[in-house]
Amino acid sequence: MNIPQDQKTSPVEISPEPVPETNGSSTPEVVTEEIVETEEIVEPEELTEKSGKKSNGKIWIGFDLGGTKMLCKAYDAKFKEVAFRRRKTKSRKGEKSILDRIVDTIEDTLEEAGKTKSDIAGIGVGCPGILDLNTGTILNAPNLGWKKTPLKKILFEKFDCPVVIGNDVDLGVYGEYSEGAGKGANSVLGIFPGTGIGGGFIYQGQILRGTRSSCMEIGHVCVQADGRMCGCGRRGCLETVASRLSIAAQAAQAVYRGEAPVLRELAGTNLADIRSGAIAESIEKGDESIKEIVITAAEHIGRAIGNMVNLLAPEVVVLGGGLVEAMPTLIVDTAWNSSKNQCLKSSEDSYKVVAAKLGDDSTVLGAACWAKHTFSDNQKKG
Ligand SMILES: [Zn+2]
Repeated sequence: MNIPQDQKTSPVEISPEPVPETNGSSTPEVVTEEIVETEEIVEPEELTEKSGKKSNGKIWIGFDLGGTKMLCKAYDAKFKEVAFRRRKTKSRKGEKSILDRIVDTIEDTLEEAGKTKSDIAGIGVGCPGILDLNTGTILNAPNLGWKKTPLKKILFEKFDCPVVIGNDVDLGVYGEYSEGAGKGANSVLGIFPGTGIGGGFIYQGQILRGTRSSCMEIGHVCVQADGRMCGCGRRGCLETVASRLSIAAQAAQAVYRGEAPVLRELAGTNLADIRSGAIAESIEKGDESIKEIVITAAEHIGRAIGNMVNLLAPEVVVLGGGLVEAMPTLIVDTAWNSSKNQCLKSSEDSYKVVAAKLGDDSTVLGAACWAKHTFSDNQKKG
């Protein structure tokens, strides 16, 4: 796999630094609605009310590690949630501080579940950045400021249980495959348009991966040979025309040109204010120019899906992330129809395109399910 791994973008992963897109030549990162969401940290009393359902027996721990927030959930053997804890990552405080927060968050979740570390069957962690999946090391995660952090080893030594780490998008798709929109399918392609566009592929229960790191960098498939510069340094990648950031940038231009009066009222021209919800509302209330932008983006995604169908023949294609959640019918139907113009005629009826079901839980639940798959189905130990 020669495609840069660091561009794989989580559906919930957001840079802590707002960098408005200017000429399209810089890495496209911008603060969006997820930043606001992370301000809501669950207080212990709320947590007791919402979860705290005690369970007997061993538990599986899922962990979603992001640049701005971390989410930990404990599940029983049937993957019913028994406790959770969400915290800010505070990535600027450095590696040791983040690692301490991860350990504290897992310990707090255990306490909430009424468990100790000896009750953990296994821990799965969805991570951003470039990973060495063989050693469980985060090789480079710019959002965390980490380089060569042996996360698996650290958690194994701390909790004395099997630990597996994986790419956060891969584990999000695995979550949808295990318990969400792709449940029961033989193979699932997941595409999550966010700041970039993340992708993952599950084939007969396995996450498709490279020799060392993850693969399925669908956001960096070239769709316009002479297109705009991408954050990866090449031109015309799918995410330059179809990511939420790209859509927001095009929408801001439409507002500026006076072509989107509803969005102008809702969000103005500030990229950070043009969130998925505002885009969806402006379309509902009649901004045809914004609808066209979203349709064009979804058609690009559909063409990528058609190409993937020709290569890998997924049974189910799951589209997720905040943008899809805000307007599932428009994006899913458009992408599905567009994909049929790209795939071979013989494959037209071999797959379906659906919206994700698990929302922000896809990675944390997928991480726990992947831990179970890794340590109980295959009898491997961490
Ligand atoms: Zn690219």
